[in-house]
Amino acid sequence: MKDPICNMEANESSKFRSSHKGKEYYFCSLSCKQAFDKNPGKYAK
Ligand SMILES: [Zn+2]
Repeated sequence: MKDPICNMEANESSKFRSSHKGKEYYFCSLSCKQAFDKNPGKYAK
């Protein structure tokens, strides 16, 4: 699974994660998570 913000590889072991509409998203860094949390509809697929 990829970090939807920067397209880097991120997986279930990442501690940066958010759920949106029942789906789990993983991030490489806190700043990517925060960007997602600000506007999840823009990045969620
Ligand atoms: Zn990232």
